[in-house]
Amino acid sequence: MVKHIGVIGSGTMGKGIAYVAALAGYTVALQDISPNALERAKQDIRTEMDKAIKRGLLGEEDCHQAYERIAYTTQLKDAVKEADLVIEAVLELMDVKIEVFKQLDLHAPRHAILATNTSTMSPTELAAATSRPEQCIAMHFFNPVHKMKLVEIVRGLDTSDATVQVAKDVAKKMGKETVEVNEFPGFVTSRINCLIGNEAMNMLMEGVASAEDIDKAIKLGLNHPMGPLELADLVGLDTRLRNMEYLYKHLGEKYRPSPLLVKYVKAGRLGRKTGRGFYEYD
Ligand code: NAD
Repeated sequence: MVKHIGVIGSGTMGKGIAYVAALAGYTVALQDISPNALERAKQDIRTEMDKAIKRGLLGEEDCHQAYERIAYTTQLKDAVKEADLVIEAVLELMDVKIEVFKQLDLHAPRHAILATNTSTMSPTELAAATSRPEQCIAMHFFNPVHKMKLVEIVRGLDTSDATVQVAKDVAKKMGKETVEVNEFPGFVTSRINCLIGNEAMNMLMEGVASAEDIDKAIKLGLNHPMGPLELADLVGLDTRLRNMEYLYKHLGEKYRPSPLLVKYVKAGRLGRKTGRGFYEYD
């Protein structure tokens, strides 16, 4: 029975997962090494709740209770000491994630399930850093977490059926649909999405059309709810570049990161999170 969830990393995804988990009735401890990121997450969760109340989507009392169910800490040990499930949402870098999984294995209760929110990487490799590979799994949420319906559930080599069932049950309680995917770089969604985004960036670089017209064409012509460039800005161009680098390494040439993406990341144009990517934001 999962009652308490630890979320590691309070960036774009971690804060969204914490918000949705608290609304679903779980007590949540949200951890980040950066106090600033934690403070931003706290403010963003408050803002998101206020918006939902204003629109009549959530009741004030429900939001208040959910808000009170989230604790914030910079100490991983504190975030996971009572956890039944931990969801890791730190940077998309294997070395960083492996180090986090080692710490989770040391400090989370023996019964706790350790999940990663990676977009592309191998849950088996993370599980191998722990003494409980049968309790490790990927739960791939989507951005923004409170709006997107899907969680991809990815089994590692040794993941038990019981672990898969718990991950599915928790996702369902959070109001999500699930698909079960066999482990392969990029799973189903990132493998497709990264390719589309990268092609759009290459087209922009080649002068095929403006960013606005590429996005408009894909939205109105192909019926995508968002254009690939505005979606990349939402994801974060640093995160997208790490996704591409991993897929390039494991799936080959067609995933070579667009030079334009590399250039934007070098310039610090990371999308919405820095106020500028393919578009400018207030
Ligand atoms: P982000 O850069 O917005 O946030 C990452 C956070 O992790 C930062 O706040 C950083 O301070 C923190 N962090 C770094 N090292 C840490 C550590 N050792 N311990 C604790 N915190 C640490 O990244 P994000 O976009 O939220 O992505 C997080 C994960 O979710 C990645 O694996 C990414 O691929 C995946 N993901 C991202 C999206 C998206 O749209 N951004 C969608 C689905 C999955």
